[in-house]
Amino acid sequence: MADAGLVIIGAGLSGLTTALFSRDDFLLLEKSSRPGGLLKTEDIEGFLFDFTGHWLHLRDPRTKDFIADLMGDGMVTVNRKAAIWSNGVMTLFPFQANLFGLPPAVIRECLQEAVASAVSRAAGTAAVPGNFEEYANIHFGRGIARHFIVPYNTKLWGVPPSEVTAEWTQRFVPMPDIAQIIDGALGFSAQAMGYNVSFIYPATGGIESIPRAMAARLDHSRIMFNTAPTALNADERWVEAGGRRISWDRLVSTTALPDLVKMTVDAPDVIRKAAAELRCSPLRFVNVALDVPTPLDGNHWIYLPETKYPFYRVGCFSNAVKSLAPAGKSSLYVELAPDTTMPEAEITAALQDFLIEIGSITEKSQLLFARYRNHPWGYVIFDERCVPARDLILGWYRSKGIKSIGRYGAWTYNSMEDAMLEAMAAAG
Ligand SMILES: Cc1cc2nc3c(=O)[nH]c(=O)nc-3n(C[C@H](O)[C@H](O)[C@H](O)COP(=O)(O)OP(=O)(O)OC[C@H]3O[C@@H](n4cnc5c(N)ncnc54)[C@H](O)[C@@H]3O)c2cc1C
Repeated sequence: MADAGLVIIGAGLSGLTTALFSRDDFLLLEKSSRPGGLLKTEDIEGFLFDFTGHWLHLRDPRTKDFIADLMGDGMVTVNRKAAIWSNGVMTLFPFQANLFGLPPAVIRECLQEAVASAVSRAAGTAAVPGNFEEYANIHFGRGIARHFIVPYNTKLWGVPPSEVTAEWTQRFVPMPDIAQIIDGALGFSAQAMGYNVSFIYPATGGIESIPRAMAARLDHSRIMFNTAPTALNADERWVEAGGRRISWDRLVSTTALPDLVKMTVDAPDVIRKAAAELRCSPLRFVNVALDVPTPLDGNHWIYLPETKYPFYRVGCFSNAVKSLAPAGKSSLYVELAPDTTMPEAEITAALQDFLIEIGSITEKSQLLFARYRNHPWGYVIFDERCVPARDLILGWYRSKGIKSIGRYGAWTYNSMEDAMLEAMAAAG
C-alpha cells in the first residue's frame, strides 16, 4: 500500500486548492516555511507588500462560491483605476482605447495606423500574424504597437514581442474596435475595458489572507514545510523528501516544470532536452514605502512603456485597500524590466525622480525605504518552441499518472482563478 493516496508538491494556491478538494488522503510537500507561494504578503514596519499586485478577478461560480465560503465577508470589491504614463502625460488604461491627452502627433500616428489596419482587416487583406509584434501591428495598427504594446511588453519579458507567439494574447490584451479607438482619441472615454475592471481583495492582511484561510482548513499533520523532494521516480511512483522515500497512488506537482524534470530520475533524454527549451523571465521588483497617503494620482497601477524608465509598472497597494499601509502613508510595488543592468541605488533615484515628475512626492526623502526582491519565475516566454516542448513534457507525465499544474507546473500565463479551477479539476 502506498504511503499517501495523493502526494502534492507545492503549497501555493494550486497545491492548497488541490489538497482542499481532494478526497484522497494527501501529503503536501512545501519547500518554504509557510504556504502561499506567490500569494505571500510581506510586512515591513506596518507596510504590507504582496508579490507585486495580486488582485482577484472571479468569473466562475465555482471560484466565487469557494472564496465566499472561505473568506466570508472578509473581502472588499474595488473598481480598477489604472493609467499609462508616457510622453510626459497620464492617460487612461487601456492605451489603445484612451489616446486622448497624448501629444497630437502621437494621436495622429496611432489613429491613422489603426484605421489602416481596420480597413485591411475588413477587406480581408490583413496578413496572418506570425508573432505577437505582428499581431499588435495587424490588430491595433503600427502606431499603438510602436508607442505602447511593443515597448511595454519588451520591458515585461526582457525579449522583443517578435520572439513571442500571438496565441496567448487574446484574453489578456483588451481589443477595442475602431469606433472605440476613435472615441477614446477624442476624449469620449471608453467604458471600462479589459478582463479586470473590478477586483476583490482581502479587507485586511494582504493577499496572503487567502492561502492562510485555506491552510487553516487542512490537517497540518499532512503538510511538510521546509521540504522539497530531492528525487522522484515516475515509473515506481515514489519521491524522496525529508530524508525518506514516500510512495503514492497519485501525484500532483506544482513545482516549475523544468525543476520537476530535473528531479525525475527516470525522465528520458527527450524530456530533458524539451525542458531545456523552456524560457521564463525572472521577477524583479521593489517594495517601496512613501510618506504620502495617495500617490500615483490615486491609481492602483501605472504602466510605463518608455525605455528611459527601468521599471514597466508601478502600483500602489494602499490606493486600492487602505489597510495595506499605516495611516497617511502608502505602500508601492515597482516592477523592474528583468534585463535592466542599472544598479539598485540608481533605480531608487530614478523612481524618486519619476514620483516627483508625476507630482506624487515633492521631496526625495518622502520615499521612506525601497527593498529589492527577486524570484526565479515570472513570465513564461511563449516563443516558438515553448508550447510543443511543454506539451511533450506534460504528456509524458500524464502517461505516468502525474499531473503537473499551476502557473509554472503547467508552464502557462494564468490568473489566480485559473489556478484554482485547474487545481479543482486535478484534485478529483
Ligand atoms: C508578478 C505576478 C503578478 C500576478 N498578479 C496576479 C493578479 O493580479 N491576479 C491574478 O489573478 N493572478 C495574478 N498572478 C498569477 C498568480 O500569482 C498565480 O496564478 C498563482 O499564484 C499560481 O499559484 P501556483 O500554486 O500555481 O504557483 P506558486 O505560487 O508559484 O506556488 C508554487 C509553490 O510550490 C512551492 N515549490 C516550488 N518548488 C517546490 C519543490 N521542488 N518542492 C516543494 N515545494 C516547491 C513553492 O514554494 C510555492 O509555494 C500574478 C503572477 C505574477 C508572477
